Amino acid sequence: MLKRRHYHIDDIESCVLCTSQEEETIDHLIFSCQFSQHCWAKIGISYNTNTSRIEATIRAKVNYSGRLFFEIFTIAAWNIWQERNNYIFNKINPTHNSWLERTKADLNWLRYRVSIDLSDYITSLVNNH
Ligand SMILES: [Zn+2]
Repeated sequence: MLKRRHYHIDDIESCVLCTSQEEETIDHLIFSCQFSQHCWAKIGISYNTNTSRIEATIRAKVNYSGRLFFEIFTIAAWNIWQERNNYIFNKINPTHNSWLERTKADLNWLRYRVSIDLSDYITSLVNNH
């Protein structure tokens, strides 16, 4: 964002979720980063990073076997971002376990916004991960 607004930045900000030294773009951070790829795999979402973000998301939805794809997708992505922020602002190292616990906690909140059968579905999803 800073670069887009033409602030002068000396060094490329590299991703804090992995050791690749890759520039921290949204595409890297949320989708192609090794850390994030592992998160997606953990919840059964396969993300093809060789295509556009929209195309990859559509394909991921088609290939996803569960329900509530976009809700789960959004919560998972949000918590990858939270892991990153927790490191940047609190110097807490990102872990897949803390990502999973946050994601499960947010999924639990989602139970209050959906029908009873979806609520039950979320409960079993959370208990099985
Ligand atoms: Zn990375």
